[in-house]
Amino acid sequence: MHELRSAVDDKSLFRYISSGVSVSSRLEELVEERLGATRALAVHNGTEALRLALMGTRPCAGDPVYIPAVTFVAVAGAVLSCGLVPVPVDVDERFGLDSALLPADAQRVIVAHMEGMVGPLPQDVPYLIEDSAQAMGGRHADGRHAGTVGYAGTFSFHHAKVLTSGEGGLVVVRDPDDWEVLRSYHDHGSDREHGKYPVWREGAFYGENFCANEAVAAVQLQQFRHLDEILASLERHHAILAEELPDRSDIRRVVRTGGDVKVSVRIELGSRELRDRALADLTDRGLACWTLDKYFLPEHPVVRDRVSVYADGFPWNLDDGAQRYRPRSRDGFRATREALGRTLCLPLAPELDETGQTQAAKEVAAALAAL
Ligand SMILES: *Cc1c(COP(=O)(O)O)cnc(C)c1O
Repeated sequence: MHELRSAVDDKSLFRYISSGVSVSSRLEELVEERLGATRALAVHNGTEALRLALMGTRPCAGDPVYIPAVTFVAVAGAVLSCGLVPVPVDVDERFGLDSALLPADAQRVIVAHMEGMVGPLPQDVPYLIEDSAQAMGGRHADGRHAGTVGYAGTFSFHHAKVLTSGEGGLVVVRDPDDWEVLRSYHDHGSDREHGKYPVWREGAFYGENFCANEAVAAVQLQQFRHLDEILASLERHHAILAEELPDRSDIRRVVRTGGDVKVSVRIELGSRELRDRALADLTDRGLACWTLDKYFLPEHPVVRDRVSVYADGFPWNLDDGAQRYRPRSRDGFRATREALGRTLCLPLAPELDETGQTQAAKEVAAALAAL
């Protein structure tokens, strides 16, 4: 409340009018320091962050953007709303984009660290965007933070994410020159001096308004102070549930690396039928669980049916059938579809204390043992 109250007391919730350094700027500085990012920019949500990162690549209309076959539909939507064409790429065992399937000349690739699972990154892609909406605070094997390795990284503060302000987003970039382009685009293509009306240089490009709100930034600033605590609690809870899981040959726990954000324990069951039974049983007992079926983009209406609000079907109509627009999979996504059908996620609650975590783990384990 302290951060929020002082933002409101300042009587100017627009970041470029605030007296002194804006809360949004303080948030960005904190993020740069905490995540080891070159520059950060606050926006309204994770989808906008993706759009902004894509626009910052200065694409041509209709360029393909390679995206994981398993991710939230916002990734496809962000690509399309930039006038670009999303091309699904099949995923590996942990449902991260399989780099081996990318064309050698891929220019734009989005990887998504789903459920905090920080996956390996493709090499030598000029514009690699790490969608870290579900992996705030996660780390790669070399210790660098998820989101900071590629050209850009995006984050969300939506209600369901690791940190939340209801809605909120953030983009980080490695190159400070890219940050200037993003900053300008997110503020109507302007140059901006704090406290003044924006100015447009000769040759300014058009932009949009993605400028963060000071009250929301204040909540995010406060949330960030809890990040380490939340990550540690998830880590502990994950270890407790992993330990309690029944030892059954038809329930395999998907291994998580040290750098993953442990938002859930992910299990793969022996068959789809058993998975569906587990889902129904746990739900009946009031135990939280979910599947990842909703993230399978090749069968998502938005990607499958290729409908657009534009009368001419833009930008889908820019797909001329060339090789670069072909979905990338070895088997038409069959193995992925089947693996998703056997997968169940057991979410972890960082707010529980150790006793609560142990109790919750025992209930879930008992339900799985009784299947
Ligand atoms: C939530 C999410 C987004 C979109 O973020 P919003 O803040 O809801 O717009 C994008 N990608 C992934 C992987 C997400 O989970």
